[in-house]
Amino acid sequence: MPNFDYAPAPESRSIVDIQPSYGLFIGGEMVDPIDGTRFKTVNPATEEVLSEVVAAGSQDVDRAVDAARAAYDGAWSRLSGRDRGKYLYRLARIVQERSRELAVLESIDNGKPIRESRDVDVPLVAAHFFYYAGWADKLDYAGFGPDPQPLGVAAQIIPWNFPLLMLAWKIAPALACGNTVVLKPAETTPLTALAFADICQQADLPPGVVNIITGAGDTGRTLVEHPGVDKVAFTGSTEVGRQIARSVAGTRKKVTLELGGKAANVVLDDAPLDQAVEGIVNGIFFNQGHVCCAGSRLLVQESVADELLAGLKRRLTTLRLGDPLDKNTDIGAINSAEQLDKIRMLSEVGETEGAERWSPPCELPERGFWFPPTVFTGVSQSHRIAREEIFGPVLSVLTFRTPTEAIEKANNTPYGLSAGVWTDKGSRILWMAQKLRAGVVWANTFNRFDPTSPFGGYKESGYGREGGRHGLGAYLDV
Ligand code: NDP
Repeated sequence: MPNFDYAPAPESRSIVDIQPSYGLFIGGEMVDPIDGTRFKTVNPATEEVLSEVVAAGSQDVDRAVDAARAAYDGAWSRLSGRDRGKYLYRLARIVQERSRELAVLESIDNGKPIRESRDVDVPLVAAHFFYYAGWADKLDYAGFGPDPQPLGVAAQIIPWNFPLLMLAWKIAPALACGNTVVLKPAETTPLTALAFADICQQADLPPGVVNIITGAGDTGRTLVEHPGVDKVAFTGSTEVGRQIARSVAGTRKKVTLELGGKAANVVLDDAPLDQAVEGIVNGIFFNQGHVCCAGSRLLVQESVADELLAGLKRRLTTLRLGDPLDKNTDIGAINSAEQLDKIRMLSEVGETEGAERWSPPCELPERGFWFPPTVFTGVSQSHRIAREEIFGPVLSVLTFRTPTEAIEKANNTPYGLSAGVWTDKGSRILWMAQKLRAGVVWANTFNRFDPTSPFGGYKESGYGREGGRHGLGAYLDV
């Protein structure tokens, strides 16, 4: 198979203007912390320090929640849905106008390839704001009663894998329904949320409707536990999700949790195998596998396993790993040293437990956090790499003989966020989709997102739905 050399095609980073340090976005302006400390955020592809941001303290959290409350009681709750919609359309359009800047900034802070931040993340961010802008004046017709009311102040905590997209998933429906928000981005990826603060100013959003406080887990915990919060929306690990569920139990706070996953991507013997190979690659190597709904368990029917795996390995040798800002890059950097350690540790466990490890020949840059695309074959259901979320570019391959066995293996997980089915027959798709215990089931595709489609999990993958009409319910008093 010919392997082409590509000349470097780096996207210019001159379009972004990263300040040496940032404050907190509270009450419509950037303010210095009261009791917060400062920490550095780095580019995971180079380990270069990008900026210094605040780890908000409890007084900062108080101030942000107060600002959100004042905005809720003041201007925002008096606005009509139509006027709220206008602000959301404005935010959507500014995201589009500044899309190149946002994509470059996301790739620098997160490590994801520019091809993905430019073509997937940022367009979906704008689409989310456009979609919920459309709902803002139609809530009476959304199926939640004649005059559904907002909840109040929403505390929103998001992870580092899709920083700006998760912000959009949280902020757009909250604002459309008439809530105000305090959002905390992840410790390692605060920069696009801070750029969004600037977008809120540019859109003349009333002060305090959106507040953005940076920080680590402690800031998140303080925010979740704050008595002035009416709603908690969290995306992240199942472990932290459990802590949050415990801390809000017995309070009036409404909660949605979008947690981990260990999705099965099931390839039946009649599947179009070349297409399935592309879907498997997209399922687990998209965004370096830092995807809660990643197709991290490939279940392939035994009779086509050899052919499929040969095709998959061939395809993986063509993936290009390296500079996230290079437009030819398929696999970028792992988001943090901590995450890299976790991926390495679980991959070593996979080998120790007896699975066979394979990676294509692949040169890793010297600086930064990198992990090659990796495939484990000979995996059994009891292996940790078949049970635990690795959250990296690591695929575990299991085989099955009958569709019933495939369903049993696919559902044999504490998670239930997503699944995929590859087959030529519509009847098999419907049969499998009914039996797979997963919030999203993709058929002959994978990792496809749309703001109109609800997303969320069963079992330990969390509860509540984001996106679509269902996503409104999470921000209304229903
Ligand atoms: P976390 O669940 O710790 O992080 C998610 C968000 O919650 C971050 O903003 C984090 O802040 C914040 N947070 C951490 N602790 C608390 C707390 N006690 N109360 C409130 N908020 C808190 O995920 P990690 O970044 O630690 O990743 C660990 C593992 O979680 C990954 O290896 C992966 O398996 C899984 N994961 C799953 C995601 C998903 O989408 N399902 C997303 C991210 C991770 P901070 O960033 O400062 O820690």
